[in-house]
Amino acid sequence: MAVTSYTEVLKAARQLPLEDQVMECPNGCSVPMKTVRVERIFNRAGKPIVIRDLEMYVCPECGCESMPLRSARIVENVLNGLVEPIGQFCAPLFQSAQPAI
Ligand SMILES: [Zn+2]
Repeated sequence: MAVTSYTEVLKAARQLPLEDQVMECPNGCSVPMKTVRVERIFNRAGKPIVIRDLEMYVCPECGCESMPLRSARIVENVLNGLVEPIGQFCAPLFQSAQPAI
């Protein structure tokens, strides 16, 4: 299996048809969903990896998120090891609340 560079995967993914003209919230909100770019952590073979600049749809009303097809493709390629990492991600980890007792 050939290892493709991240930019090539991005280029290929961007050739997929644009779905973000009018994305409606699955919860039936009246406002269309917005496209945002986020950093997301995924698990690959039990180890965390980070994908940067991942496009997601977010509903401004209820906060519901959905992943566009082209982002799903990128995630799939990364999880399958088809993309070379651009670097390492290392950061302090914080907990937002006390664990439930
Ligand atoms: Zn919504």
